[in-house]
Formats: sequence, structure tokens, C-alpha cells
Amino acid sequence: MSSNPQPLEPWFLELLACPGCEQRHPLTLSESSDALLCKCGRYSFPVRDGIPVLLLEEATLINADAKPEGVA
Ligand SMILES: [Zn+2]
Repeated sequence: MSSNPQPLEPWFLELLACPGCEQRHPLTLSESSDALLCKCGRYSFPVRDGIPVLLLEEATLINADAKPEGVA
């Protein structure tokens, strides 16, 4: 990737939510800034050219057994 996209701003991340969760879990940027990790621990969403791709079909399933916080 030749471009150097702007880092995602915290306020922008707060507007995003994991489409795989019934609750709106916040997403956190990965250390490499090329993925958004859902707090549910199940999904990782790609960030392409600085644009988060919040589609389940594009998501990487990290841990199907992870339990979101606050869910029994
Ligand atoms: Zn999630």
C-alpha cells in the first residue's frame, strides 16, 4: 500500500459498531491500524485505505466462542 491514510480518530471509532453483535460493542483499532477488533472478541474487520469495512462477510472470525461482556 503506497498511500499513508489518516489514522482513525477516536470520536469516529465511537460511532462505529460491530454488525455481528446485537448490542453495539465498541470497536478498537488493532496495533497495526489495519483492522478493527470488536469488543465481543469474535470479529475483526479490515481497514482499507483508512476506511473501516464493517461487513460481516468481510470480517475475520477470531473466536466464535467468545462471549460479549454483559451477556450470560
Ligand atoms: Zn462484535
